[in-house]
Amino acid sequence: MDYPKTSRVALVRDYDKGVELDELPVPPLVEGAVLVRVEAATGCGTDVHIASGGLRHSPTCKLPLVLGHEAVGRIVALGADRVTDVVGKPLREGDLIAWASPWCGNCYWCAVAHQPTLCVNANLYGFGPADQFPSLTGGFAEYVYVHPRSAVVHVPEGLSPALASSATCAFRTVVHAFETVGQLRPTDTLVIQGSGAVGLYATAYATIMGIPQIIVIGAPSSRLALAEKWGASTTLDVEHSTPEERRQIVLDATDGRGADIVSECSGAVPAFAEGLSLARRGGKMLVIGAADPRPSSVSATNFNMRQISVTGSISADISHFWRAFQLLTTYADRFDFDALLGNTYGLGSVSDALVSLEAGEMKPVIVPHTA
Ligand SMILES: [Zn+2]
Ligand SMILES: [Zn+2]
Repeated sequence: MDYPKTSRVALVRDYDKGVELDELPVPPLVEGAVLVRVEAATGCGTDVHIASGGLRHSPTCKLPLVLGHEAVGRIVALGADRVTDVVGKPLREGDLIAWASPWCGNCYWCAVAHQPTLCVNANLYGFGPADQFPSLTGGFAEYVYVHPRSAVVHVPEGLSPALASSATCAFRTVVHAFETVGQLRPTDTLVIQGSGAVGLYATAYATIMGIPQIIVIGAPSSRLALAEKWGASTTLDVEHSTPEERRQIVLDATDGRGADIVSECSGAVPAFAEGLSLARRGGKMLVIGAADPRPSSVSATNFNMRQISVTGSISADISHFWRAFQLLTTYADRFDFDALLGNTYGLGSVSDALVSLEAGEMKPVIVPHTA
């Protein structure tokens, strides 16, 4: 495959103008870098926030930016010394791969705390800036320039590019979060707040891990039906119940104690306070979905008198990508994971994809190399 000179991209230059189709030069390949041709990308709720300027005050968002942080692509060219993926499999032109953020490896969070997802020196894929090397860092583009510091892993044979893409933010984030919260017990009751892709992936993960009682709070009913298919023992429609009713149902299901773990996967501001009210004394609150910086009012006595511990988790490293891919292939017969995918869009229709995502469509699939 010839090394391309330019790449069409879905670019955000100005939050007032939204997403525009543009073209950027492809930087020359440096040692360790990989140029990939995007095979499929998928939309995440965060893309809607990024494109609309909801994260304009976040230091991670840097205009101009090529949008899209869930994607997989086929190798066009490999920089010198990029020989294998993280499990030792040789990398070859045409291979389908995924890539993690380019953690620096040298800051306090990378090197001392061993919490690389908090690295202060990484420019995250899909967050810009497109005016600095390597510029082609968003998945809603013909090509992505994988940074020399980014770990990469093969997408397993048989896994569709669109489904693999959906694991490169939503599922790997769930895998990382549940690893962070610690041991799950086969006697636990888990409440999952949210029935979007993150909540549904969390439901599948909990089922795989043998959690017998999974209560999913969300909407609409079609997603709750999917949650039940994937192992939820009870589903509660957030649009047709009150927090008091939901709390009572959780208490009734747990002999009056409350849930051992509550996992916030919704991003809704009131979910955190409600989640604490659903956790048992001594239980755990796992925050995955929160993206809205507005405060949530809760009593600090939840954390001493009721001894609830709160764990937060952001993003994931390449081990979680690999585990997410393994789960998608190992449990393909148990879960119809494709149900998480919505309609397919070309690169010129990214705005339409984001509108439909916001309107409640499942994950839109962006296929950049279609008309
Ligand atoms: Zn995301
Ligand atoms: Zn770092």
